[in-house]
Amino acid sequence: MRLAETVTFGGSGLDRAAQIRGDSHLLAAALAQGWVLPVWRGKPLIQAGAHLGWVRPGGAVLGLGGPPVFLGFDDGVARFACDISDWSPEAGAEAIETGFFDPSIQRHPALGADHGFEELRGVMTRLCARDAELVATAKAVLQWHRTHGFCAACGSASAPAMAGWQRDCPVCGARHFPRTDPVVIMLVTHGNRALMGRSPGWPEGMYSCLAGFVEPGEGIEAAVRREVFEEAGIRIGPVRYLASQPWPFPASLMIGCEAQALGDRITLDPVELEHAVWVSREDMVAVMAGAHPQMKPARKGAIAHFLIENWLADRLD
Ligand SMILES: [Zn+2]
Repeated sequence: MRLAETVTFGGSGLDRAAQIRGDSHLLAAALAQGWVLPVWRGKPLIQAGAHLGWVRPGGAVLGLGGPPVFLGFDDGVARFACDISDWSPEAGAEAIETGFFDPSIQRHPALGADHGFEELRGVMTRLCARDAELVATAKAVLQWHRTHGFCAACGSASAPAMAGWQRDCPVCGARHFPRTDPVVIMLVTHGNRALMGRSPGWPEGMYSCLAGFVEPGEGIEAAVRREVFEEAGIRIGPVRYLASQPWPFPASLMIGCEAQALGDRITLDPVELEHAVWVSREDMVAVMAGAHPQMKPARKGAIAHFLIENWLADRLD
């Protein structure tokens, strides 16, 4: 798909400079002249609702922060990220991680009023491509450190290494690397219609493409076929890769495919899906415009929205 890399969080060509991750002198020099993105409990610092909130190393907001993770060079400027989840805001902390979307914004007393910690889903479509790649990387790596503090081989506390791109176990010597979890997401078509489903617990009326984690021992095409059959009872013919998207909620790689259905009879798995339905191109235009009486589209910025939009515009090639 020619437009593949224009998806939100699509690659911006960030220079990740992996060759300096193991060089403490070069890293220290980069940090001294660079900028740090604070992330609080998964929420990045956002400035004016549309830009990442970069601070200088040593800034007051980083006081309770963990070790910086080196993200790379952005046009020669070193960029780092730092987890400051130990900071306690005066208000608003209770809303975190309780629902599908957290609209609260936490303000830090050491920062200006136009800076706040915000849910990335709410601002992702307003960020430029470079900021989107930087924040997706920061969020995924920092979340991995938060949840992988102990060696998976022997259970001892592990320590960050390689500028945050590795954790080493001091007891058994095992090395651990940040995870990325592959997920297939399918635009399933049958003639002029596409298959849309909704999971239990989603916002009312919201429908999207079917999706599921790739299992060990499985290729992309096999995962597409299995997921669609498990969730909707539909057999799939040709499968075609279209585009991928890093999805840092917390660490997925969405692999977008087009899958041609061999039939249109839906048999739901009620655990996975609350409802699934074939939607014609004409109806989908109304859904995407927010003008459909029952269905709401996938969130803008998500690859499902991107695939559907380009399907309607005949731009999947
Ligand atoms: Zn160990």
